[in-house]
Amino acid sequence: MRYSAFAILKNALRGNRDWTPAWRKPEPKSKYDVIIIGGGGHGLSTAFYLASVHGITNVAVIEKGYLGSGNVGRNTTIVRSNYRLTPNSRFYEKSMELWRELSHTLNYNVMFSPRGVLNLAHNPGQMDTMAERGNQMRLMGVRSELLDRDQVARLNPGLDVSGSARFPIEGGLLQPDAGNARHDAVAWGYARGADQLGVDLLEGTEVVDFLKEGDTIVGVEVMRNGERSEIRAEKTGVAVAGNTGRVMKMAGVDHLPIESTVLQAFVSESIKPIIPNVVTFGAGHLYVSQSDKGGLVFGGNIDYYNSYAQRGNLPVWEEVTSELVAMFPNFARLRLLRSWGGVMDMSMDGSPIITTGPLPGMYLNAGWCYGGFKATPASGWCFAHTIANDKAHNLNALFTLERFKDGNPIDELGAGPTPWYH
Ligand SMILES: Cc1cc2nc3c(=O)[nH]c(=O)nc-3n(C[C@H](O)[C@H](O)[C@H](O)COP(=O)(O)OP(=O)(O)OC[C@H]3O[C@@H](n4cnc5c(N)ncnc54)[C@H](O)[C@@H]3O)c2cc1C
Repeated sequence: MRYSAFAILKNALRGNRDWTPAWRKPEPKSKYDVIIIGGGGHGLSTAFYLASVHGITNVAVIEKGYLGSGNVGRNTTIVRSNYRLTPNSRFYEKSMELWRELSHTLNYNVMFSPRGVLNLAHNPGQMDTMAERGNQMRLMGVRSELLDRDQVARLNPGLDVSGSARFPIEGGLLQPDAGNARHDAVAWGYARGADQLGVDLLEGTEVVDFLKEGDTIVGVEVMRNGERSEIRAEKTGVAVAGNTGRVMKMAGVDHLPIESTVLQAFVSESIKPIIPNVVTFGAGHLYVSQSDKGGLVFGGNIDYYNSYAQRGNLPVWEEVTSELVAMFPNFARLRLLRSWGGVMDMSMDGSPIITTGPLPGMYLNAGWCYGGFKATPASGWCFAHTIANDKAHNLNALFTLERFKDGNPIDELGAGPTPWYH
């Protein structure tokens, strides 16, 4: 069913009886051309582009929970491409290009809102770094604007720009074309789009082992409704974000340049519009924006321990909220409504992995750190290309696993030439 103003009108007149479910609940087939493990944003977008761009429709997405139950439905929804290094800049700009058209491509409103992302600077040294980053972005064709304190104050009247602020604001760097999108709508939109093209979305189906012929992956074993069964495939893609280590271990791949850690998000009670864009704090790690319902949506740094639990700890709450109040003192009177956590697949150089292998018949999509939501369209687009052609697209050609072994990290994290020593 196509969503349109006419469909709304027709259903309004017919008591909303004609709406159909957004996707089917199919039974698994015994064999597919491609299976994708993980029904998050990246798995679903990969399936959508496999079907829509490459004409490969005999595809299953295997998800142990419900679609969108992982990080794609847990993030703080920020979409940007303000990267320093060329491979990331080009990749995330491709994502921005796809974001701009996504609601039309999917016939589903993902509420992409290019309201701007403002990174604050708190001292002259940081302003220099911002200028350097802004110039790098411009060289890559990404719009950026360096703002002084008065321009920042005009843009965000709620910020404490006084000299007596705990961390006085010097200025900031704005990416005016960046912003937010509604995270669960992105999962649902890609799911519906893939389903309409014939992809089977298998919810409540957990991959518990891989099927191998020699070294070659030829499918998976799954648990579904309490029963174990096999699903075979020519090609098996893994896109399980924070669970990458656990899932790859089942395939016999023990060592990956990824650590799983928790990241938390927070939402305040709703207030009238006060923050027009996304604001990040430069004297610590905090990002905040305001949802259409009025709640402040914010987050900070990861919880610094390895975990697969989707919940975090109280010291991070304290750190993040105190940073928020240092920027916007008026928010001290707000009440926190809810918080949650997700498991991050932190790569050692801060750049992703989209590659064939590491075993024959297998393809890996991982290492998104805390920035993989904005990558969702380009990640799926490049991963679909890689699976369909058995070869990376030039946008993800450097996002290999070998780069860590060969000493060629794409060091967006600034971890230095030996990230494995950290
Ligand atoms: C609190 C928080 C804030 C964030 N903020 C931002 C942000 O503002 N901007 C941004 O760009 N990024 C952000 N991120 C990061 C972003 O959400 C992730 O990088 C991205 O969503 C990861 O890709 P995904 O959507 O495919 O992952 P997921 O949605 O986690 O999908 C992976 C899926 O694999 C499934 N799975 C795992 N194991 C198995 C198995 N054995 N069998 C079957 N299925 C399995 C899981 O159930 C899960 O649904 C944030 C993340 C969190 C948690």
